Amino acid sequence: MVIEQHQETTARGTSNDLIPVFDGHNDTLLSLGRTGRSFFEHGEAGHLDLPRARAGGLAGGFFAVFIPDPPSLAEPAASQEEDPASIADRYRDPQAFPPPMPLAYAQREALRTIAALYRLEAASVGAARVVRTAAEIRRCLVEGVLAMELHIEGAEAIDPELDALDVFYAAGLRSLGIVWSRPNRFAHGVPFAFPSSPDTGPGLTDLGKELVRACNQRRIMLDLSHLNEAGFWDVAALSDAPLVATHANAHALVPSSRNLTDRQLAAIRDSGGLVGVNFHVGFLRPDGAGDAETPLIRIAEQVEYLLEKLGPTGVALGSDFDGATMPAALGDVAGLPRLLDALRAHGFDDATLRAVAYDNWLGVLERTWGA
Ligand SMILES: [Zn+2]
Repeated sequence: MVIEQHQETTARGTSNDLIPVFDGHNDTLLSLGRTGRSFFEHGEAGHLDLPRARAGGLAGGFFAVFIPDPPSLAEPAASQEEDPASIADRYRDPQAFPPPMPLAYAQREALRTIAALYRLEAASVGAARVVRTAAEIRRCLVEGVLAMELHIEGAEAIDPELDALDVFYAAGLRSLGIVWSRPNRFAHGVPFAFPSSPDTGPGLTDLGKELVRACNQRRIMLDLSHLNEAGFWDVAALSDAPLVATHANAHALVPSSRNLTDRQLAAIRDSGGLVGVNFHVGFLRPDGAGDAETPLIRIAEQVEYLLEKLGPTGVALGSDFDGATMPAALGDVAGLPRLLDALRAHGFDDATLRAVAYDNWLGVLERTWGA
């Protein structure tokens, strides 16, 4: 349906506004769980629901399973949006092993969220589908079905024996972020800081290295977003898969700890990997401020710079919908056509727009998962 709509608009010679978008990261499952809002009704809260996804041409994306801080650690109103730095502070000590998150708690939360994803799929009556292969994503694009890829952001729910990895894989897991912005038993996440190098602490633990090998064997994509630089280089040395950061930007333009240095970008390029451009204003603005009054040209500049460093197949989108502060000009997922217009106005041709909007994701997933 998405493609038919696009053909209609092209035939009228109007705009590119329904180029489909496959997106590298959203926290919508977390948002739905926290707010109780419906995925199937057009809402104002959050950034993504099915009606708004259709309005914006969202064809699918990575739906993250994120384990919030255990209640005993969280301040009464703590959330990622409100004060990420204070949350990260509690985890910053690299000596804090075992990490302050009980495995049973993390697994319970992961099960709850994965179950929520499958309940969404069932309740969608065919409008949304959990996908495990690039071919399934392509089919969803043709059929106008929202493709939902099961991603885990932060491996706290995976036990040292990696039993949960196999169970999650069987449940559809095809990509894993080793860490969020806190340490766990596998690696050290980069605390949110500006300006800051991403080189904030030690590399992977021995167990982290085992996890990388295990993911390679199962062809689970490893997401390097939120990983500190030492951990990044450990993965680069070990992994036989393309290096991918699903939602991060270029450090040369915006010196946030969450963005990637030119050296990291070169390693990603050499591996046949990819970066999904993050729309969070704090990772887009040269001053690092969390100000929603951030023009869409900041996203265009990131796309341009990353294309220069990564080549034409190395750049895609990784919005961070429902997990970050979006530019006001974008608003939510329904604003994607405005972003594509801004990219076109910046000088990208139709082929480049389509590559960045969906095709580069499909390419790197095929290289990682197999065609
Ligand atoms: Zn994230």
